[in-house]
Amino acid sequence: MKRLAKKRSDKEIIVMSLSLTYSVFVSIFAVIRLMNEEWVVATLDLILALFGLYVFVYVWRTKNAENPAYAIALISVLGTIATLALKGEGQIYWAYPSVALVFYLLPNKHAMILWGVSALVILFLLIDLPYFQLITIAVTVGITSFFCYIFSAKMDQQTARLRRIANEDVLTGVFNRRAFNNDASELVLSKTVETALLIDLDKFKQVNDYFGHAKGDQVLKQVSLFIKEKIGSGNELYRIGGDEFAILCFGRDFNYAFQLAKTIHEAFNQCSINEEHDITLSMAVAQKELDESVDDWLSRLDSALYQAKKSGRNQIIKAIRH
Ligand code: GH3
Ligand code: MG
Repeated sequence: MKRLAKKRSDKEIIVMSLSLTYSVFVSIFAVIRLMNEEWVVATLDLILALFGLYVFVYVWRTKNAENPAYAIALISVLGTIATLALKGEGQIYWAYPSVALVFYLLPNKHAMILWGVSALVILFLLIDLPYFQLITIAVTVGITSFFCYIFSAKMDQQTARLRRIANEDVLTGVFNRRAFNNDASELVLSKTVETALLIDLDKFKQVNDYFGHAKGDQVLKQVSLFIKEKIGSGNELYRIGGDEFAILCFGRDFNYAFQLAKTIHEAFNQCSINEEHDITLSMAVAQKELDESVDDWLSRLDSALYQAKKSGRNQIIKAIRH
């Protein structure tokens, strides 16, 4: 397990590129307006350009893109409304990139609320336009908004689907090793105690040897279903290797996790999988101390599981920190 070396996320890169592009383009307009001595609009453009630059630097330094995404969406909408109010309907062109930006940056529902309110304000500002011109603007902005909404909803769906595929174990449907690595790595900075359990099936190979691989697969599915039913809410089950499972108990202490391990272990020894195939569980439990790295915590668990195997299997070993 590697320590979390935080790379820039796609969202950070998108927000940084957008804020910088926004800042550069609005600066160009600010210069043109300064040259035309349009002082109020020039000042507004300068403020927006500086804000774009500020957001860029903020994301660059903090690697936090969540709130800046909202800030950029909001400022782009406010900029469009303010420019329309100051310069008139000729500035309606700014509404088109604005709506795209809002739906691109924000979750669909939030984008709909922000853009819905903004569209009403824009309509109010343009209400005195000739009927045909107003209808044309309403229809074109409406169509653009609709396309942006559909595109963003589709993207959200696809992202959720890809995330599920990437984190799911194909055989059992529980989370996979990749999800375990991600979730465990995120506990690096946790301010609460965290515990984890490792579980490896004892003598599982013999199921494959006697009954074939397909039967082995079926048993792995049964085992994961069995454990999943026992772990309760707030804990997560992962299949991290062939016949190896892990459970993360978020924000729970050692006593809780050890009790959970005992419940699973005892119940498994009386279940039909154990009876039919003579399989038992070797388990390890460890609490991550606040000053301990994820690597050290997990390697303690690994060693304890190894010890459980070495000293006869079918037991739970407490991975105590020395
Ligand atoms: P031990 O008691 O020491 O844990 O031995 P074991 O027989 O359980 O074997 P071990 O844990 O060392 O290795 C796991 C075995 O699980 C190896 C492989 O034959 C089998 N296996 C791994 N992945 C799959 C899978 O997806 N399906 C099936 N059917 N078998 C698998
Ligand atoms: Mg095994």
